[in-house]
Amino acid sequence: MRTFSLIKSRFKFGLLLTALIFVLLVWLFMIIFEGEKPQAHLEPLPEYLSEGINFTLTASDLKMGLRNIKVIVNQDGLVFPILKKDFPYEGLFNKRGIRTYEEGFTVDPKKLNMVQGQANLVIEILDFSKRRGGDGNLLLLEHKMIVDTIPPSITAASRGHNISIGGSGLILYRPSLDTHESGVLVNDLLFPGVPLSRDPQTGLYICYFALPYNSQKDTPLYLWAKDGADNETKKIFSYYIRGKQFRSDTIRISDQFLEQVVSRFTADLFGPEKTTIEKYLLINKRLREENHAVLRDLCQSPTEEKLWDGPWIRMKNAATMATFGDQRTYYYKDKAIDRGVHVGVDLASLATSPVQAGNTGRVIFAQDLGIYGLTVVLDHGQGLYTMYGHLSRIDVNVGQLIAKGDALGATGQTGLATGDHLHFSFLVHGVFVNPIEWWDPHWIKDNISRKLNTIDNPSEK
Ligand SMILES: [Zn+2]
Repeated sequence: MRTFSLIKSRFKFGLLLTALIFVLLVWLFMIIFEGEKPQAHLEPLPEYLSEGINFTLTASDLKMGLRNIKVIVNQDGLVFPILKKDFPYEGLFNKRGIRTYEEGFTVDPKKLNMVQGQANLVIEILDFSKRRGGDGNLLLLEHKMIVDTIPPSITAASRGHNISIGGSGLILYRPSLDTHESGVLVNDLLFPGVPLSRDPQTGLYICYFALPYNSQKDTPLYLWAKDGADNETKKIFSYYIRGKQFRSDTIRISDQFLEQVVSRFTADLFGPEKTTIEKYLLINKRLREENHAVLRDLCQSPTEEKLWDGPWIRMKNAATMATFGDQRTYYYKDKAIDRGVHVGVDLASLATSPVQAGNTGRVIFAQDLGIYGLTVVLDHGQGLYTMYGHLSRIDVNVGQLIAKGDALGATGQTGLATGDHLHFSFLVHGVFVNPIEWWDPHWIKDNISRKLNTIDNPSEK
């Protein structure tokens, strides 16, 4: 009986031990043969590779830890080694081994002599698990990129680019097919070109640009193009810049005018402690700048087609009260208090005279615009815009297509105006230019139509 009980308890003990060993083995097996892949994060993930890019790779394996990291670039079977890192096995079950690791590396297509076209960035990370015949769990990351280190090309397709300071210009050019963005650079100001819509097969682009009134005779102009990989080309083209002397103008501010004009603007523009003259200066400087910024933004997405035809109409029977580029000095009680540049032409006739659209275009603005009062802006296509300010009345709505000569409203003296007149501005991609050129049929013929006709009749140069 006792013997039997002893055997029985020994048997029980043995069973328990076997079970314990089995559990221990399973537990060990689960640790050593863990099946969790390492994790990784790569930054950035560029679409194109045009110059050296600095990547940051973060790798982690929280179970058995990182064994090694290998980074290569594969281009059509040609392998460029980028990074290789082996980690030591330290402590029981690699307890003191590396669990997370971060490293930066650079891929420079020029230094590596890579060819143009697709390239795969391949990242292999292994951990210290005994899986896969002892090799460890493998994380394979691939990021496809396009190597493009060749900038686009661009060539002028028109001749005779004579531009006045404060004036406009037109150039036709042909960019290479990989071009994403192109146009004319005036200093750092970009005037974007648009495809010549009539015949996209020609690959021709058209670009209206402007020489701001504060340009110099040696202001550099370039044709400019950028491809999808951000490679840029700046190319000289033949042009001639004519100097321009702008008028000086004196504006005397009377107390009566101050009171009258300042009361037209809402109180929330000013702080409570401002004097009338301080309020006036705020309107003349800060509000003017804000209004110009609104116009600039408004003129950034032109209709791609040409809506206009022939010279712009100048308001009939109107006297010119101020010209484009006037260098104004504002006096109050014989003291110069402010300076500014007049960026349009002031035209005065009888009070509340009809205001006509200078050319065919779409209404893109028809409301109050600070110092310009009630204002209408027309988009004539391809970057050309006109604005009509100080109106007493607006007869059109935003979105409306208006034919040359159609009524827009009536003159007035809303905004910062003395006396009933029309303030007329011409803008090229949001830059104010001298409207005189666009009123002049000879200027349009010599500088615009002749170039456009060359395209219609290629034999006529
Ligand atoms: Zn004006």
